[in-house]
Amino acid sequence: MRLSRFFMPILKENPKEAEIVSHRLMLRAGMVRQQSAGIYTWLPLGKRVLDKVTKIIREEQDRSGAIELLMPTLQSAELWQESGRYDAYGDEMLRIKDRNKRDMLYGPTNEEMITDVFRSYVKSYKDLPLNLYHIQLKFRDERRPRFGTMRSREFLMKDAYSFDLDREGAVNSYNRMFAAYLRTFSRLGLRAIPMRADTGPIGGDLSHEFIILADTGESEVFCHKDFVNFDIPGIETDFDDAEGLRAIFEKWTSVYAATSEMHDAAAFDAIPEGERLSARGIEVGHIFYFGTKYSDAMGAKVQGPDGKEHVVHMGSYGIGPTRLVPAIIEASHDENGIIWPKSVAPFDAVVINMKSGDAACDAACDTIYASLSKAGFDMLYDDTDDRAGTKFATADLIGVPVQIIAGPRAVANGEVEIKDRTTGARETMTIDAAINKLI
Ligand code: ATP
Ligand code: MG
Ligand code: MG
Ligand code: MG
Repeated sequence: MRLSRFFMPILKENPKEAEIVSHRLMLRAGMVRQQSAGIYTWLPLGKRVLDKVTKIIREEQDRSGAIELLMPTLQSAELWQESGRYDAYGDEMLRIKDRNKRDMLYGPTNEEMITDVFRSYVKSYKDLPLNLYHIQLKFRDERRPRFGTMRSREFLMKDAYSFDLDREGAVNSYNRMFAAYLRTFSRLGLRAIPMRADTGPIGGDLSHEFIILADTGESEVFCHKDFVNFDIPGIETDFDDAEGLRAIFEKWTSVYAATSEMHDAAAFDAIPEGERLSARGIEVGHIFYFGTKYSDAMGAKVQGPDGKEHVVHMGSYGIGPTRLVPAIIEASHDENGIIWPKSVAPFDAVVINMKSGDAACDAACDTIYASLSKAGFDMLYDDTDDRAGTKFATADLIGVPVQIIAGPRAVANGEVEIKDRTTGARETMTIDAAINKLI
């Protein structure tokens, strides 16, 4: 992508409304624009990052055996009357009437709708286990939307729903998602800690929130320091191996971790002083096993091996991609801007032409840009007329992992400079060496 043809509205000034660093940097870098309270446009740079985040989420859901579909944002109130949640959900639900005066709502979550899909088609235990997910916008009329897309009213959620014949099967489905979540957050460059959580209005008795530690987090959390060293389930993880999945779950729940709602001060104080961590955190994912709460109310049953009807056991599993983007920035930035983990960077590398219009600089940049694009790299090429200083500042702000800098003096010697955004280390090398270093 040539920057001169891209749409990346960088802000020079620090936006006054931004209270936390991720919100400030997302606005400065031209990633998002607020359209009304808690409702955002994802501008092209932000959209690229969001797409990389959802791609990783999707890959790990698929790997674990979950199957993607797409449910609508608008739902009929009738479904929610069946479960009893239409009145119970409260002010966070945006209620709408269509032209025929039918009660509709903008879905804040999809337990009812997926249960309806399930009961319409699945009749036998032979079709279980089943886990269906989608990545779709949700609306919750939050009392206090804030921190940009961290707590917005309209936001993207990956929500998965599992169906099993009995509790044992459902616990295995839960463990499968638990392992998939550990892999997902790790691939996003984050260390998320699963913490015992309250099940709240969704109900049930087994639930974990996945929390990223960050000073700006809204949750107060308490955990053992050992989490920092636990191994993430590898690519070889067998999602059909119930014992292996149980072992992962047991390892990751073997030491203390809880949010303030579930905090047990006595258990926490029993941990030796130097091994305790009391911090703030951001909830980026949440998994629940809630048994037959919806399947009972809505009649989702299958015939079991015994020939009798069984109400299915369900779980639901959420991740917030539009919250993850700012959470990643909270965890990875410096005074000059964002530092993207490679896996979600909007571009793999940026070529900076320090003197656009200079024949030698243009030729060097064109060669590098063409070769690396051809090799499959997502390249940004700053071919604008801006001053070199402005280009450096922009490259640092938008946090692309590698900068390839072509200035007249180096290019005269057939060389360019490579800068690593994370360490700031710079290295001069020939143009070919620079291309080969990336490939
Ligand atoms: P919170 O405690 O922050 O209000 P929640 O517990 O209400 O979140 P869940 O119902 O567990 O959220 O939804 C699953 C995931 O969706 C959350 O873990 C989070 O990543 C994301 N999410 C929820 N609410 C928002 C929001 N207002 N803005 C952005 N992402 C959100
Ligand atoms: Mg909430
Ligand atoms: Mg919560
Ligand atoms: Mg939650």
